[in-house]
Amino acid sequence: MKFGLLCFGFVAVLSAQKFDAALAEKPEMCRAFAEVDARANLIQKEWIELTEIPSPSKQETLRIEYMKKAMARVGLTGIEQDAIGNAWGLLKGTGGGPELVFAAHTDTVFAMDTKIKVREENGRYYAPGIGDDTGALVALLHSIDILRQQGLKTKGDVVFLATVQEEIGLLGAKYWLDHRAKKPDLFVAVDSRLGSIGYGALLIEQFKFTFEGPTLHTLASKGQPNAARGAARLILAINNMEMPAPPEGGSPFLPVANVGTLGGGTVANATPGKVFLTVDIRSQEMKAQSKLVEDVKTLAQRAANEEKLSLSVEAVNVAHDYSKALPKEVRLKHPLVQTTVAVTDYLKLNGNAKTMPIDSGSDDHNIGVAMAIPSIGIGAILGAGAHSLEESADKASILRGTKYLMLLTVALAGLGQ
Ligand SMILES: [Zn+2]
Repeated sequence: MKFGLLCFGFVAVLSAQKFDAALAEKPEMCRAFAEVDARANLIQKEWIELTEIPSPSKQETLRIEYMKKAMARVGLTGIEQDAIGNAWGLLKGTGGGPELVFAAHTDTVFAMDTKIKVREENGRYYAPGIGDDTGALVALLHSIDILRQQGLKTKGDVVFLATVQEEIGLLGAKYWLDHRAKKPDLFVAVDSRLGSIGYGALLIEQFKFTFEGPTLHTLASKGQPNAARGAARLILAINNMEMPAPPEGGSPFLPVANVGTLGGGTVANATPGKVFLTVDIRSQEMKAQSKLVEDVKTLAQRAANEEKLSLSVEAVNVAHDYSKALPKEVRLKHPLVQTTVAVTDYLKLNGNAKTMPIDSGSDDHNIGVAMAIPSIGIGAILGAGAHSLEESADKASILRGTKYLMLLTVALAGLGQ
């Protein structure tokens, strides 16, 4: 194999996957990389502009409108919007390649009236939502624009999907995939850290338990049922419960059950009629997740019985059904994962360390995993403090992210003629 101009200065070790370093050394790809640097200011300016458009979940209209215009600007065709609010556009392939979907979400966790003004300090941008997930939207726009500009075509069609309601249970991605007659061949959510690859799905469910008992004056409360004691019993029981072991190679932080919110009672000198608490349950396997959910529900019922209270249980976060997900080995060995690892390592996005894909994820690609569609979660920027008002991101990381997305697009969908 002959390598011409080495725009990254070294040759990657090739393995059983679809990426060939020669692709990255093509003159038009080298020109595309150079173009990212040439328009660095433009990319960063658009990153700031989009970040400053407020976009809480279920109120993404302003950003979605922006994205639809931007998709047209970069040459995507067939731009559509569905009933839930997702917008998408198509980069038509020359034929014979897999259909590749890139998804990034437009919603943030910040209320409409949150002050969002991007501040720059020591090479970082600071603003709520700068990283999650605005950087990915902008990197995707420019990667598509530059590929087109440099005449780099793909064999497979590439769909750029800007989703809504990701932060409240991946609802936009679920709606889109549920309503699509033909499922995509490859689904990539761009929403985590540049260099990371998740090929699984973190199972997340949240339940609200409400204990209900009599409201009695303190002087009449001795020995009587008390809803607060029911909640206390459950909290202690969750704290003492035996957790299933993490799967081999799994995260030591999982499985986990956490009491996140609690409340109840209205007067200080009476028993609270109602006390509620919510439990967030997370694991990496359907079996462990189902067992944990059942165990917590059993403990709640026991606490209610012991305290002679009534109990109601409400699922507050959509629980996606992962029972149809492909086995771990099949997902890991899929060319989607292995090609992405090869591209990530070629660009040294993790320095000299070999990229280790992880069997987890909590982005839009979880829906693809649940539907047995080859799906991964990757990132386009280096951010910190997501979901906090102090969120920040490395200003230069989006340039590496844009190059990465360009190379990945052509590696996954195939180079068209
Ligand atoms: Zn996100």
